[in-house]
Amino acid sequence: MLPKLTIIVPCYNEEEVLPVTAPLFAGKIRELAEKGKISTDSRVLFVNDGSRDSTWEIIRKLSEQDEVFLGISQSRNRGHQNAVLAGLMEAKDLCDITISIDADGQDDINAMDAMVDAYLDGCEVVYGVRSSRETDTFFKRSTAQGFYKFLQFLGADVVYNHADYRLISARVLQEFANFREVNLFLRGLVPLVGFKSTTVEYSRQERMAGSSHYPLKKMLALAIDGITSLSVKPLQLIMSFGIIVAGISFIGCLWALITAICGKAVAGWASMTCIICFVSGVQLISLGIIGEYIGKIYLETKQRPRYIISERTYSTEKEKSERT
Ligand code: UDP
Ligand code: MG
Repeated sequence: MLPKLTIIVPCYNEEEVLPVTAPLFAGKIRELAEKGKISTDSRVLFVNDGSRDSTWEIIRKLSEQDEVFLGISQSRNRGHQNAVLAGLMEAKDLCDITISIDADGQDDINAMDAMVDAYLDGCEVVYGVRSSRETDTFFKRSTAQGFYKFLQFLGADVVYNHADYRLISARVLQEFANFREVNLFLRGLVPLVGFKSTTVEYSRQERMAGSSHYPLKKMLALAIDGITSLSVKPLQLIMSFGIIVAGISFIGCLWALITAICGKAVAGWASMTCIICFVSGVQLISLGIIGEYIGKIYLETKQRPRYIISERTYSTEKEKSERT
């Protein structure tokens, strides 16, 4: 039997780009179905992430016009990662494979062919990897690459240059549903589930319309989430750094003591100030890093829901059975 595919598309204020990209996604589904790779009841699932513009109205209209389109709406804006998760968790019971992709047409949809082929060859997870970053600004390119390197240094298992364009089978998603953390960094979590995986290269274009919703602030927040949810190495680094600073301080103390004994002690204001500033700086940074982890623990212990679906363009099995 052919696998049923669901393409998951998170959308936040995408009214400009959705009318352009939605037909492309639908076209891809039809093309794959015609080639006999996926079943004809495959779907595109839009996840409206609490958009403030007419995105949800567009999704509703699309779903009325064509049954290939489905939509769910989050009760408010929760961010890209939570929107993708909501889509994945919704789709895991509806289909055999999911492919998550951004709404803006930046990721080449033709890579889906190779992804589905890899699935048919027995891979359960297929990561879309950018072949080049030419369309990115120099700043985004260098910070992103530095970030991947840093994550690898910290021991986190991330696929280089992979964002959130990936195929995941429903089987993996059933297991992934048991990962209950609220601090989501999907590209770091999916490898932890395991199963056979591979990568598919694609080139990333400019946004087809609209503008990016990932300003520097959100990028930094995602980076910090990524690091702190995947690695405790920063805490260990504090320890090592603390030991080094303590060693240097010890030498400093000896030196101060010897000069004092030799009777050469002068006012010593500059050296004193430097040491105090340095050590208090180190302490504050260390406290900050520890605080970041405590904050994460605090959020995790609350176990709040990671997404809340307020509306659907279709009724679930449960709703159907309640009605009859
Ligand atoms: N997105 C979302 N919620 C947000 C921000 C973004 O669902 O709070 C979606 C957005 O609609 C898009 C994807 O995440 O489909 C990637 O966002 P964007 O293209 O703005 O980021 P960039 O490609 O510039 O990193
Ligand atoms: Mg984009």
